[in-house]
Amino acid sequence: MADKPFRLSNRSQGIKASGIRKFFELGLSMKDPIDLSIGQAHFDVPEDVKAAAIDAINDGRNRYTVTQGIPELREKLKDRYASRFGNIDDCETMVTSGVSGGLMLSFMALLDPGDEILIPDPYFVMYRHLATMVGAVAKTYDIYPEFKPSAAAIRERITDKTRLIIINSPSNPTGYALNETEARELAALSDETGIPLISDEIYEDFIYGERHVSPREFTKNCIVLSGASKSMGMPGWRMGWLLGERDLVERMYSLQQFSFVCAPAPLQWAALKGLDQDFSEHREEYRGKRDMVFEGLKDNYRIVKPGGAFYMFPYLPEGVDPESFMAACIKRELLVVPGSACSDRATNFRLCYATTDEKLKRAIEMLNEIAAELK
Ligand code: PMP
Repeated sequence: MADKPFRLSNRSQGIKASGIRKFFELGLSMKDPIDLSIGQAHFDVPEDVKAAAIDAINDGRNRYTVTQGIPELREKLKDRYASRFGNIDDCETMVTSGVSGGLMLSFMALLDPGDEILIPDPYFVMYRHLATMVGAVAKTYDIYPEFKPSAAAIRERITDKTRLIIINSPSNPTGYALNETEARELAALSDETGIPLISDEIYEDFIYGERHVSPREFTKNCIVLSGASKSMGMPGWRMGWLLGERDLVERMYSLQQFSFVCAPAPLQWAALKGLDQDFSEHREEYRGKRDMVFEGLKDNYRIVKPGGAFYMFPYLPEGVDPESFMAACIKRELLVVPGSACSDRATNFRLCYATTDEKLKRAIEMLNEIAAELK
């Protein structure tokens, strides 16, 4: 008899625990950590959005919804996308269990075992692991040192097995936000090669430049994923959505039917309410925090000033090794994410500035102290 009652699948053995999660757990064991490691907004769900969720629960809107999501929410999303992208008559939207759910469905619908998917380096960790889960191979395209996802860098990595290209703007972990020229070039590459783009736009509401630009404005060969986790302060509510070409999205309905079934019913009503709200106050608040951290660190760390999201991905000072840097942070109960958790390189670290100014001030002091100590 085997010495264990179960045998782990190759799939599950291929997945390592998230390097970011580890810091989350470390933080739980600290008394008063300054936690800049987890990527979520620091504001709560607005009161009337909470009230919409509570009303839905009290009204008994607790049953399964149709798998693609309540029509009211899908209609609203379609209107919003139509106003940005023009005619979307041959497209559909669906409501997913977070953007994570949308990513999972997209990968399942478009990737076979052995297929290749191109993801940026540095990347949002989930991309790599989801590829493994569906038996595909995640290959990276380099966006160092400025973190621009350039069509030229992607083109170099395309092989006859490449089936998908992921674009993430504004980006986790770098905060880089695409400009129109870059988005046009990415769209042209997709049109020329026929390889679809997945555009992960979960941080679209946190833009500090002129406007959020999506490659979908310039090509139809693009699935747009977004959601309410970040912009409405509800990551625990698991609300996401996507827009894509109708046949493809209808295929995803079937995949959702037999996996997630539907996104949480009462919370779909809450997200519908949330879409009517103006969240620009939060954006302005985060712009101030971005500036404060950038100004506070720029003498000791090389930083590409982010145009969006709520992350920064500073370079470690010359000659500072990542292990000593992380140890110095942990000693001070300051939690940041080592670059190696979201990159093939270990030259940077990620910090999330979605926290109070008071904590950010202390973090800036500590990081400058660490730079002086380790140099
Ligand atoms: N995409 C990116 C780039 C993210 O940073 C995150 C969350 N960290 C997600 C997707 C997943 O978000 P959700 O909570 O909607 O599943």
